[in-house]
Amino acid sequence: MENKAYRGHVLALPYPSQGHINPLLQFSKRLVSKGLKATLATTLYIHNTMQSQSSSSLQFDTISDGYDEGGFAQAESIHAYLNRMETIGSKTLADLIIKNKNTANPIDCIIYDPFLPWALEVAKKFGIFGAAFFTQTCAVNFIYYHVHYGLLKLPITSTPISIPGLPVLDLEDMPSFIGVPGSYPAYFEMALNQFSSSDKADVVLVNTFYELEPEAVDSMSRVSRLLPIGPTIPSFYLDKCLENDNDYGLNLFVSYSSVCNNWLNTKPEGSVIYLSFGSMSSLSNKQMEELAFALKGSKFHFLWVVKASEEAKLPKKFVEEIGNKGLVVQWCSQLEVLSNKAIGCFLTHCGWNSTLEALSLGVPMVGVPQWTDQTTNAKYVKDVWKVGVRAKVCENGIVGREEIEFCIKEVMEGERGKYFQKNAKKWRELAIKAISEGGSSDKSIDEFVSKFVNS
Ligand code: UDP
Repeated sequence: MENKAYRGHVLALPYPSQGHINPLLQFSKRLVSKGLKATLATTLYIHNTMQSQSSSSLQFDTISDGYDEGGFAQAESIHAYLNRMETIGSKTLADLIIKNKNTANPIDCIIYDPFLPWALEVAKKFGIFGAAFFTQTCAVNFIYYHVHYGLLKLPITSTPISIPGLPVLDLEDMPSFIGVPGSYPAYFEMALNQFSSSDKADVVLVNTFYELEPEAVDSMSRVSRLLPIGPTIPSFYLDKCLENDNDYGLNLFVSYSSVCNNWLNTKPEGSVIYLSFGSMSSLSNKQMEELAFALKGSKFHFLWVVKASEEAKLPKKFVEEIGNKGLVVQWCSQLEVLSNKAIGCFLTHCGWNSTLEALSLGVPMVGVPQWTDQTTNAKYVKDVWKVGVRAKVCENGIVGREEIEFCIKEVMEGERGKYFQKNAKKWRELAIKAISEGGSSDKSIDEFVSKFVNS
């Protein structure tokens, strides 16, 4: 029988960076699998930078951030970038809504990254539903919420810090903008400004799942209409193929997928350390050297993602000297790598996507957080989810080679290693349950979708 139900059209607007695009793209695909029509709007520069974009189910369109030739790198400062993006982005987003207005599928909802709070104003101007999509944990967002509303005064003068629904935190567990006062003020302002609009949003979506941080979700739910909808990972990787859902989506870097797969497939189960610091972090030469020495000294195989911009920091002849013990690539399909049986642990910067991906795929972690929310995520990895360790930083801000070797052994070997593996397996099962039919995130997604379906 023909289905005559009206299926709404959502427009998803991510902040233009890899870690913000991935979850919103995957969430949009999930909405399509639930019957909605979805368009992902990237900036023109991002659109032209995409190395791969493989999603038959989604539509793609563009807005402009005012830097069509070079994106963020073209801007004088983050402030200049955000200001220009607000002016030109608002206008081009409005143009996109108008373009769709008299079609069979006008836009019913804008799902926007709260790093771009002006998008809600555009939605409201057109009388469209506005959904804020937070790409970090409830815990981290709730910390920023407390600072934004003056409930947590800065600078912090006494520790430990108590925030409802969160474990007690030390300064080193706080997002770096708070833990290291004065660092990256423009990014800090952007993190706090998320709440300038989200109070007015019709709903707040968060890329987490209830079971991961129930107390934080409950606490934040008291101050916003919250729906945890994660993990936004193609279901294919969760052994739970809900739909034809195995494509990763959109890579801004060239991915060395088959090189990694071929190499990993020759390695025994659980024998490889996977290392990546995500798309934005830049390590010091000294930190790269310490990592390189630790990997050379350890008895395990390793696959290390070193972005093209970081390659010159590797010690001379490192790649030649490691032979078949390790593989260094500029970018990989991380989900593919993490789901390969050869991987025994993930040495990670604890970016939220990477952390959630490792939790959902059952991979224990060594946390080497660098900045922003990574420090808080590392605290949860170690003390709340108990799926790994957090490397100790020396006074010079570096994690030394002995510490790295020690942490790797802790996670890869012995009783502690087994304990982390057991916990990682538990989180994987809970992640699968959350997005399976009737699971906590699946119910949240159904609730969201029901707003745009009329039978
Ligand atoms: N990623 C990837 N290949 C790599 C490294 C990272 O596909 O070689 C993906 C990873 O799966 C994650 C995103 O890039 O979805 C990085 O996001 P995250 O929040 O972890 O870190 P960020 O890049 O924002 O610092």
